[in-house]
Amino acid sequence: MAAEIGKKEIFMEGKRIYLSSPTMHGEEQKFVQEAFDTNWVAPLGPNVNAFEKELAAYVGIAHASALSAGTAAIHLALRILGIGEGDVVFVPSLTFSASCNPIVYEKAVPVFIDSERDTWNMSPEALEKAFHKYPEAKAVIVVHLYGTPAKLDELLAICEAHNVPLIEDAAESLGSTYKGKFTGTFGKVGIYSFNGNKIITTSGGGMLVSEEEDITKRATFLATQARDPARHYQHSQIGFNYRMSNVTAGIGRGQLLHIEEHKALKKAIYQRYKEAFADIPQITMNPLNACGDANNWLSCLTIAEGCGVTPDAVMDALAEENIESRPIWKPLHLQPVFAECDFIKENETECVAEDIFDRGFCLPSDIKNTDEDMERIIGIVRKLF
Ligand SMILES: *Cc1c(COP(=O)(O)O)cnc(C)c1O
Repeated sequence: MAAEIGKKEIFMEGKRIYLSSPTMHGEEQKFVQEAFDTNWVAPLGPNVNAFEKELAAYVGIAHASALSAGTAAIHLALRILGIGEGDVVFVPSLTFSASCNPIVYEKAVPVFIDSERDTWNMSPEALEKAFHKYPEAKAVIVVHLYGTPAKLDELLAICEAHNVPLIEDAAESLGSTYKGKFTGTFGKVGIYSFNGNKIITTSGGGMLVSEEEDITKRATFLATQARDPARHYQHSQIGFNYRMSNVTAGIGRGQLLHIEEHKALKKAIYQRYKEAFADIPQITMNPLNACGDANNWLSCLTIAEGCGVTPDAVMDALAEENIESRPIWKPLHLQPVFAECDFIKENETECVAEDIFDRGFCLPSDIKNTDEDMERIIGIVRKLF
């Protein structure tokens, strides 16, 4: 029995095409080896400091703090901005739950904002409405979904008018630019993620960036258990164990050397899909922002309503061929855990986030996909229309 199952598994394995899996190059191991050779196998060391400097230099910001996860970075951003119990924080509904969870860690109150059609990101109109309803709101978290920059000029103008800080969740958009400037560098605080499926990975990790050194210094302080300067262990505040390790940072340094190459490959995947589906009027690719240059972390599409093909049908057809795809993030206002939270739409007639979720899905966007893989994926999708 066990042998049979084993055989079946081997047979089923074949070649799997992934949504977005890590792509390593070799330099990662060199930096990790250095960490071992010098015995810097700790949540501090030369790779951590160098990775911060190198990432900050790449995106063109003054300061960075390397952390254990993007989620930890969002948490510390909220903590540093003084968000606390009962404070209202605006966050898009159409995003991964990690954009929002830290708001709840701090006992603050998430209020979800609908998307606009042009970029799928936070709608400036809905945000304006949200400020009318909650003039006391304390912060705004913007996400650049699937790598497409949000309407930053409009969103920043609203935040400035209401004197509220913007936190940029650029977990999915490292390498994307808006009007020539990197996403993650527009807000008072920006965060990146190096989780396994992001455009570059450290196997798990995150970065908090800011133009203000006070902010990143405080992030590093809080991330290392908030130790006061003293010989003994002295604490006047509650800290966290959120620092990135020197081994992990070594992987990040190696990966960062290839970010532009990863971006170019992701863009090529998007263009390939766009051209391949151009003659199918029921298919629309996820939007880009004309004011920006997206990293195209994941290529997504939506299917016209009532055309007889559903995202589930396409995802099933791909799964049968051992090809991974994924639904669009389920809007957070529809999640059972956030059922009590308010949700602000652009207008009463439609919910953009729900519509994108209902009609869309994420295509395999792995940069190791070969021409042949892309042909196969495209063929399976096209056959259904
Ligand atoms: C991946 C992701 C995060 C969380 O990052 P981790 O490093 O996995 O903690 C946050 N927000 C968005 C939009 C993400 O996609």
